[in-house]
Amino acid sequence: MILILKPNLSPDSLECQKLLNHLSSLPNIELRIHHEQGIEQSLTEIHLIGHTAALTVEEMKRLPGVGQVVRVSERYRVLGRHNGDHRPTHFTYQGIRFSQDSLNVFAGLCAVDTRENVELMMRALRDNEQVCTRMGAYKPRTSPYSFQGRGKGCLPYVFELAGKYGIKVIAMEVTHESHIEEIHEALNITGNATGVMLQIGTRNTQNFELLKSAGRQQEFPILLKRGFGINLDESLHAAEYLASEGNRKVIFGLRGMKTNIGDPHRNFVDFAHVSVVKQLTHMPVCIDPSHSVGTRSSGPEGILDIMHVTAQGIVAGANMVLVDFHPEPARALVDGPQALLLKELPYFLEDVQIAWEAYEKRIALNRRYLN
Ligand code: PEP
Ligand code: MN
Repeated sequence: MILILKPNLSPDSLECQKLLNHLSSLPNIELRIHHEQGIEQSLTEIHLIGHTAALTVEEMKRLPGVGQVVRVSERYRVLGRHNGDHRPTHFTYQGIRFSQDSLNVFAGLCAVDTRENVELMMRALRDNEQVCTRMGAYKPRTSPYSFQGRGKGCLPYVFELAGKYGIKVIAMEVTHESHIEEIHEALNITGNATGVMLQIGTRNTQNFELLKSAGRQQEFPILLKRGFGINLDESLHAAEYLASEGNRKVIFGLRGMKTNIGDPHRNFVDFAHVSVVKQLTHMPVCIDPSHSVGTRSSGPEGILDIMHVTAQGIVAGANMVLVDFHPEPARALVDGPQALLLKELPYFLEDVQIAWEAYEKRIALNRRYLN
């Protein structure tokens, strides 16, 4: 059960302390407090764990300081949607809203290779009014002999260039908890020229210690990519690890499933799950067409499969697109075959806009017919 306190009631206030004293006296109930500091107001939640069946929503609502009470099911306690649950489906980071009803595009390099390529990418983004990007510095690779990413050495110039070109958020994968500290330090050194969304990759979805470390910090939001060989429930529980440690600025990423059934694409495209994840949880949903499709194959009309599946995901309500570009794909050190060209960026964005407008039209149509 979750007690959502009245706005701006701090956990240190007398009223809250009295409430906590009372709740601590309840038999077989453990308490967990979560405090969220927003720009305009703060919200405190008290999670009651244990024998809550004996408590009624009405009696909890009557306690002083309590605004809303949600009885949660066992699944996805913090991030899940529960009966009578009106908690938000959005958060703001670096002035940008991430929500279940907006769309953000993160086009960029799969992996940072040279400073020149980072600058060419950032300039193309700025020229196309983009404020988010993806840049991998720590790359998990199948072979230990493959390029492992530039690591912390590239962070200062990546962040500086982001500041120069007005990029506000960079999605960047971390594979070890020390990377979070390295990112934090490099951002500090560059005067917080930009912001970072930590990415947990598909291979690390069940690296529970990494999930806990990423979840313990609240400075950076997190993009959790679903595990490519586990079921959806298991991946959603991975997201819940982040939230249970305190960070609920989580976006859930669909990136295709590993199975030959998806051939000839690199992975079996799973964007039919966009609306499933939105139904089950409060998380905005990201699609990654590049790692799903993995090639520049196109249909007979000439449209790239990467663009077809992007449109499919957006028409179904996706809230974020993570997509690989490269100034010279043939020379990319990672995932060149799936990279789009910089000259294709305006074309890609226009196609995204068409799909988003179609989604909005579908929402309006649904309202007209069903409400
Ligand atoms: C990536 O986005 O660079 C990546 C490695 O993705 P995934 O973890 O989905 O394979
Ligand atoms: Mn990649």
